[in-house]
Amino acid sequence: MTKSPRFPQTGLSADAVAEALRAHAGLDSASVETIGFARRFFAGADVAAVAADAAGLFAHAGRVSSYPGLPQPPGMGQIQRELQQWALELLDAPEGTAARLTSGGTESVILALRACLKTAFPGKPSPAGTPPEIVAAWSAHPCIDKAAELLGARLVRVPVGVGHVADPAAMAAAITPATRMLYVSFPSYAYGLADDVAAFADLALEHGLWLHVDACMSGFLAPFQRMNGEAIPFCGPGIPGVSSLSADFHKHGYSAKGASALLLAEEAARAIDFVYSDHPLPTMATETLAGTAPGAALASAWAVMRYLGAEGYCKLAARLSAARQAFAAAVRSVPGFSVLGEPLFSLMVVTSSRHDMAAVHRGMAARGWFTLAVASPPGLHLNIGALDAPLAERFAADLSEVVRDAA
Ligand SMILES: *Cc1c(COP(=O)(O)O)cnc(C)c1O
Repeated sequence: MTKSPRFPQTGLSADAVAEALRAHAGLDSASVETIGFARRFFAGADVAAVAADAAGLFAHAGRVSSYPGLPQPPGMGQIQRELQQWALELLDAPEGTAARLTSGGTESVILALRACLKTAFPGKPSPAGTPPEIVAAWSAHPCIDKAAELLGARLVRVPVGVGHVADPAAMAAAITPATRMLYVSFPSYAYGLADDVAAFADLALEHGLWLHVDACMSGFLAPFQRMNGEAIPFCGPGIPGVSSLSADFHKHGYSAKGASALLLAEEAARAIDFVYSDHPLPTMATETLAGTAPGAALASAWAVMRYLGAEGYCKLAARLSAARQAFAAAVRSVPGFSVLGEPLFSLMVVTSSRHDMAAVHRGMAARGWFTLAVASPPGLHLNIGALDAPLAERFAADLSEVVRDAA
């Protein structure tokens, strides 16, 4: 990186700006082309172009709020309503469920915790001096830690159980009078493995707790895997005991970055709307964290969904599953390596009882594989894309080479 120049005194022509931007974009895509797994959530150049064009067209669009105030753009309003409708339908939401459109999984989870704290226990304050508590597995995405820190709650992380998924007995044992929320993942970002949502839904009902299902990764993948006939359990708000669910359009919905959905009961959704009147201007009301809420990423999500339809998503889901199976087979073909648990989606952890995985991680990085190092159990975290099946053979070959070099 060169040192940034001072703020420019004069402007450039639009052509010159476009050329400079293309150069920056070219640097990014060139680095991405040469790194395995770096093209995260890439579903093809055509899909990427549809996503980008829509975002560009709506670059200046603000989202519509259900509260009166500024003039409401009817086109953006239509896009939002359809996206909400599609999210509710794809995630099997029962009547009375609302979808809030947010900037990403983290925002969806922050709002879920806000809904939990505001609505679930109006008459049940935490014991004196104790912040409200959330029980989550060690494998939960840190966005719940961020939410807890922001909203003054305390996150209690519990070791995962057999199969590296959330352990209902251990999580039940961590429930105290201050507990308000159980947080489970479908799948966890860390291990790519799905927690048993139905078991936790029963636990939540039994203890009168809010259950959040983090389906950020699979929200817009699992429905199409099911349509393809894959045996993927249900995880949505249709299961009694599930209070909220987060699903990201910008993961396997393949939209531009900045789009997610939070599903929760309509009443709970209204309870987290921020409405404020004691100031000089008309009532300020927002449904999500942003003030000026950008519409571009939502237009992008709408465009990709309209472009692909169920048929397009089903084809991509089938290709992703083929890629996952190809990688699992490739990993198992190299002596000493195994796949953690039974990954059903796009994430997979490679482990070994024999090899030093920190060294394997370094060796694979040197060969151009972008993986995260998993601390426990030591492993490589793979984020497999829909078009990645052709990479599996080279992955296996590089894995063999790395351990041969280390020997
Ligand atoms: C991506 C992801 C998140 C966080 O979402 P952001 O969009 O990065 O804020 C949370 N949980 C899981 C399982 C995820 O995959």
